[in-house]
Amino acid sequence: MLSIRGRLLMLAVGAVVPLSLVALAALWEVWGTRHQQLNEAMEQQAELAAGVLEHWLDTQQQPLLTVAALAGGHAPGDAFLLNHLRFVMAPRPHWIDIRIVNASGVSMMLDPVHAEAFPPGLAEKLLGEIHGVAVETDWTRGEGQYVLAMAVPVAAGGAVIARVDGKALQELFRPLQLPDRALITLLDSQRRIIYRSQSPEAFLGTGVNGSALLDALGGGRTAVTVVKSPLDDVERVYGVARVGATDYIMTVGVPSATLYGPARRQLSRLVGFGLLALLCAVTAALHISRGIARPLDRLSLAARAFGEGNLAARAPIEGPPRLAHLGATFNAMAEHIEEREKRLNELDRLKSEFVSNASHELRTPLTTIKALTRLLLRGGLDEAKQREYLETIAVECDRQIDLVLNLLDLSRIEAGAFELTLGRVDAAEVLLSCLKSQSRAAEFRNHQLAIMQGSGPLSIRADQKALRRVIGNLVENAIKYTPDGGHITLAARRAGNEVEISVTDNGRGIPPEDIPILFDKFHRGRPAPVAADGALAAALPELEEVPGVGLGLYLARNVIEQMGGRISVESEVGRGSTFTLRLPVWGKEEGQQSLREEGRDVKTIAGS
Ligand code: ADP
Repeated sequence: MLSIRGRLLMLAVGAVVPLSLVALAALWEVWGTRHQQLNEAMEQQAELAAGVLEHWLDTQQQPLLTVAALAGGHAPGDAFLLNHLRFVMAPRPHWIDIRIVNASGVSMMLDPVHAEAFPPGLAEKLLGEIHGVAVETDWTRGEGQYVLAMAVPVAAGGAVIARVDGKALQELFRPLQLPDRALITLLDSQRRIIYRSQSPEAFLGTGVNGSALLDALGGGRTAVTVVKSPLDDVERVYGVARVGATDYIMTVGVPSATLYGPARRQLSRLVGFGLLALLCAVTAALHISRGIARPLDRLSLAARAFGEGNLAARAPIEGPPRLAHLGATFNAMAEHIEEREKRLNELDRLKSEFVSNASHELRTPLTTIKALTRLLLRGGLDEAKQREYLETIAVECDRQIDLVLNLLDLSRIEAGAFELTLGRVDAAEVLLSCLKSQSRAAEFRNHQLAIMQGSGPLSIRADQKALRRVIGNLVENAIKYTPDGGHITLAARRAGNEVEISVTDNGRGIPPEDIPILFDKFHRGRPAPVAADGALAAALPELEEVPGVGLGLYLARNVIEQMGGRISVESEVGRGSTFTLRLPVWGKEEGQQSLREEGRDVKTIAGS
């Protein structure tokens, strides 16, 4: 399985390489065409140069043809013919001499009269190859010097031969402007250099027989070849061409670097661009993969750490928007789970605390009951003492029963099987009965327990027994959490369609941070912070000393809400608390309905 980076790299390379290959193939074709065009241009250059020489040779041979024609009509030694020879020679400074030879090569007439004799074999050679015109190079004058001997045939036999100084050729080509290190070379029939544009004198007469140039030409008229010159070590592209009907060969050479350079540079620039594009694509792929892979790696690290139990692990919010969003979603989920985990831990803690509190709450009254029962059984107590002990036993039994009832209510609520029987209840009556049942406990703590009642009927829709236990719990709490000698007031009043029942004390109060969790299952308050004057701390009992299991308010909220009412609290630390129940008043319709279905309005509280 490839990583994201690998895939992106493959994508980049996969996209760029075929494109580059196509581009290279196209470039290669362009290069081939261009190469061919350049080679053809070189061939044409060589043909052009050969044409220049051919034209020059023509102009040189033209007067010879006139002489040859005249020689047919005049005897050798004829004054007219001689004059004509002089006439031909006069305007041609490079011409060395002109002569008419017979078929055996013997000079019959010449100008200048004392011209030197031909080197042996030259006349024969010219006569031997003569058809139209013949050109031969005579190297017999010495190193680096040569003479061009040109001959045209005479109809009666023999030939007119002129010898021209090789310098004429130098002057013919000298005006030609050639690019740097370009070269024009002229080879004679013996394949010796008779003209070379660079260092003309230095290489005159050098033989090039066996050169690759000649091989390239073979028997053809023109050719192109690349040869490294042994004379100056420069590699050139040569156009090679034969000069007209002669056996002379003209070459035009341009250094390969000069000729192919621009095209090659263009090609390599394009290849360079291709490589650069590949590099950019790979870099971009790496960059993108880093931008995606890194946040993903960190996200997966965070997920792994979280899975291994580090609930504080969070993903970084980075990378492309979707990844950042994924990170944020992961974090929100982690936050949620961590919060839930905390709540579950807290619930666990509360549960164990509850188990120990409940055990304590069960044991303490039993111990008292047991001790008092023993005393009673032993006998010898006066009647007043016996009564006091029996009343205490009864109170402790009530406490036990209350606790067990609370536990039963809890399990019913949890199981979703808590049932209420709603009917018409007089709130004032319930308050009074609570006052009576709690008066002994209040008295025991020197509290003043009072009822403040509003005027008018206070019928509400409720379950009488359950309501009594709820209010009883609130009064018990007020007694427990108020220092001895406190004031506890029960009140009931009509407020619109509701009746408000309140239990107010001037006890220790509830810290604001506890208010939102006050009605939670198993919640037990911590000791209130010490008041500025320190008086409160002294007055309050330690929390451990206050008995309880943290169920009273939880059950109260569930029961009251199930009756269609609400429970709320207002409290100030060190000043006291007021718990208020709001329950719907008993309506007319309800009254009629309840007459029909008396005692059958049963509700079930779902567990929470
Ligand atoms: P318990 O009284 O068994 O602890 P409750 O559910 O009745 O459980 O009460 C929960 C907590 O609310 C108590 O532990 C206490 O801290 C706080 N509380 C309840 N009533 C009062 C009150 N009248 N004054 C101060 N604190 C109270």
